[in-house]
Amino acid sequence: MRHRIAVVGSGPAGLAFARVLHRHGHPVTVLERDPSPDARPPGGTLDLHEGLGQLALDKAGLLPQFQELSRPEGQAMRILDTDGTVLRDWRPRPGDRANPEIDRGQLRDLLLGPLDVQWGRGVKQVAPGARDGVLVQFMDGRQETFDLVVGADGAWSRVRPALSPVTPHYTGVTYLETSLDDVDARHPDLARLIGDGSVAVYGANRGLVAQRNSGGHVKVYAQLRAPLDWHTDPDLDLADTEAVRSRLLALFDGWATPVLDLLRHGTAFVHRPLYVLPVSHTWDHVPGLTLLGDAAHLMPPLGAGANLAMLDGAELAESIATGPEDLDEAIRAFEERMWARAGRWAEITTAGLERLVSPDPAQALALFDHVQPS
Ligand SMILES: Cc1cc2nc3c(=O)[nH]c(=O)nc-3n(C[C@H](O)[C@H](O)[C@H](O)COP(=O)(O)OP(=O)(O)OC[C@H]3O[C@@H](n4cnc5c(N)ncnc54)[C@H](O)[C@@H]3O)c2cc1C
Repeated sequence: MRHRIAVVGSGPAGLAFARVLHRHGHPVTVLERDPSPDARPPGGTLDLHEGLGQLALDKAGLLPQFQELSRPEGQAMRILDTDGTVLRDWRPRPGDRANPEIDRGQLRDLLLGPLDVQWGRGVKQVAPGARDGVLVQFMDGRQETFDLVVGADGAWSRVRPALSPVTPHYTGVTYLETSLDDVDARHPDLARLIGDGSVAVYGANRGLVAQRNSGGHVKVYAQLRAPLDWHTDPDLDLADTEAVRSRLLALFDGWATPVLDLLRHGTAFVHRPLYVLPVSHTWDHVPGLTLLGDAAHLMPPLGAGANLAMLDGAELAESIATGPEDLDEAIRAFEERMWARAGRWAEITTAGLERLVSPDPAQALALFDHVQPS
């Protein structure tokens, strides 16, 4: 029997889920709040790990296309002291495809492929236990029923409350994200500083990271360990680019000029306080309902979230398509596997964020020495 399946959200989790189901010939309804794929800037570059994001793409039959699009050279990483001294300069070995980078927009388009996403269909809430399945209520007042509803709707999931009372909490770290365009032509010194991959600088309770995307685009993240209301005393208008820039330049005062140039030349700043769900977040199984990706296990952004989200999606789809006839048996088994994997990564990334943006910058260097090949 063909189940009526809906996935809420067309991020990495929802699209990987839908694409693998599609590959197995199983219909799926993708419900997305955004009115179109380009309604918001897609965000920065992602490194997809061999055993996680790349495995998900393999399950979707998309690994060759990923290898064409991705940037293995983007695995390069340089760490500077706040005075500009180069402390570490890692380059990928020839043929190293452990964690190549891909722009989020390229990844989204790759996963979208033939999928027929229902854009502009924001979900308000879901209600399990209805006689004929799980009831989905939309923002526009309409409603629809499915045998399975998969919540892949990110940090502030509207599906999660039907499974768990838990909400995300602030980590104590805030990012301010800005961008540089056409960096090779417009800022050649910064282009050399960043190299093919990323450059990171860590001071006490501060960090500055710049990551090259394709087409000369660079994303810069100023990182602060600070209370959630750090910008209220004195009051800072977060929508005022120049006011944010000068506050950041004051907070990073004394750092080397080329490093601060990353902030001086950045375009608008996006305020991103980092929130997480508790490590090892689980719930009592509810028939016809589950969560994937950030909706299930939001964790600090240390290179795992999108990878886990994609593998969650691909594995759930595969177990529905090829697993036991009983849909709920397949989902229960998947949830156990997802919880165990996500719990391990949540511990790693939570401890990682504590060391990365900490009172002692030597902790950040030690963390990289631990994860980078010597
Ligand atoms: C600054 C930063 C850098 C990061 N860098 C990396 C990295 O290098 N590598 C990595 O692996 N991860 C990284 N992450 C984490 C990664 O972005 C997330 O873990 C990943 O996007 C989670 O995917 P998802 O599909 O679960 O959720 P999302 O990407 O959040 O997608 C959720 C989707 O659901 C839609 N939606 C939301 N609510 C509704 C609703 N009510 N109805 C319908 N649709 C809805 C949204 O519009 C969105 O399209 C980073 C995160 C941040 C903040």
